[in-house]
Amino acid sequence: MIGAGISGISVANNLSQAGMEVFLVDKNPYPGGQAVFYGCKATDECVRCGVCLVREAVATLKNQSTTQCHFSSRPVGYRAADDAMELDIQTTANPIDWKACVECGRCQEACPEQAIERVPGWKYFVNERCTACGKCVDACPVGAIDLNRSTRTSTLQVDGLVVAAGYEPFNPEINRKWGFGTNPRVVTGSQMENLFFQEKYLPREARSMAFVQCVGSRSVMEGQKHCSRVCCAYALRMAGRLKEEYPDLNIDFYYMDIQRFGKNFDEFWNRIQGKINLIASNPISIKTDEQGLPVVRYESLPELACREQSYDVVVLSNGITPAADSENLADMFSLDLDTAGFIRPTGNGSSATGNRVFTAGACKRPMRIDDCVEDAAAVSRKVMQNLGEKP
Ligand SMILES: Cc1cc2nc3c(=O)[nH]c(=O)nc-3n(C[C@H](O)[C@H](O)[C@H](O)COP(=O)(O)OP(=O)(O)OC[C@H]3O[C@@H](n4cnc5c(N)ncnc54)[C@H](O)[C@@H]3O)c2cc1C
Repeated sequence: MIGAGISGISVANNLSQAGMEVFLVDKNPYPGGQAVFYGCKATDECVRCGVCLVREAVATLKNQSTTQCHFSSRPVGYRAADDAMELDIQTTANPIDWKACVECGRCQEACPEQAIERVPGWKYFVNERCTACGKCVDACPVGAIDLNRSTRTSTLQVDGLVVAAGYEPFNPEINRKWGFGTNPRVVTGSQMENLFFQEKYLPREARSMAFVQCVGSRSVMEGQKHCSRVCCAYALRMAGRLKEEYPDLNIDFYYMDIQRFGKNFDEFWNRIQGKINLIASNPISIKTDEQGLPVVRYESLPELACREQSYDVVVLSNGITPAADSENLADMFSLDLDTAGFIRPTGNGSSATGNRVFTAGACKRPMRIDDCVEDAAAVSRKVMQNLGEKP
């Protein structure tokens, strides 16, 4: 399994529960992928954002005895013969020995750089802020931390392979019109997840906020013609959650048209009416006024009039773009990319590696979390059928 986001973990858990031996490889030092740090958007009731599905999958993974996790690892070589496949992976040393770690958290308390983190339901890991000062080593009561471990390459012998390398959130810095990177009050949806849902931070004086939809989606200019399919729902849920936490916050929601993907979208859509201001529009640009506030310039629809409005915070609902490694992975495993750069679905004998290389989740196309879980179930069945195990 290449990729331990919700898609890769779900396939791994399904196969492991069916008794298969699974190697789960991820370049991150932790499982869960993009959505593992996203926050639950429940207000007075569940809004089915799907974030808890990721936490549950991670918790299940922790107890799988036939899954071997290789984090901070990426594939660097691949050979396939008639009945054997070999995958070389390069692993950057994990300073924390998870088998020895008793999860007491003293290393995290001792670290002056906040370089030791933990994803919900998982173990501690060291991030790139580490300066190797050694305070965590001294604090660990069981000697589980060694900052001198070196990078190594190993080879996995496998019968089949699932590519579940996910996506990259669109980076609005590539288009100056979004004002991103120049004004700290302009943040992406991904950043808002961290600012609010992790750190519970919103500028204290914030009274007004704008959500701008389709940032890096449905835009020929930005080379992203596709609809990201998740942004309308995640931004509306985020807006609903913020409105509940900050009832006096005025929220304007700029959208071209609303994409109603997801099983309970209409139900949620009805509940949000009247709580936020929905403005049908084409966003033109985001500038900064003399007070340093971001100003949304937009063409209002259907009047086609050009208008401006300033805000305390602007959230750019950034979309889904192909995984950074999709080209490399496609080359390595003889897979095809579609015109947007996503990996074409396989597992049906269409690629050079026949029916032993499979693809799962958002590396194929933009998908919500619950879509990924459904797709993973279908892929797991295919893997079990094609590799000769009972479904
Ligand atoms: C801002 C934002 C908010 C969102 N909010 C929601 C929401 O509220 N609800 C919802 O349903 N969906 C939401 N989504 C969509 C959600 O993030 C995706 O559905 C989900 O993360 C896709 O899971 P995945 O496992 O397919 O991919 P990912 O989560 O991208 O996981 C892929 C994994 O593969 C690994 N990987 C990639 N390349 C390699 C390589 N070469 N070697 C090893 N490992 C590799 C990555 O490190 C990563 O861990 C949101 C998306 C965005 C952009």
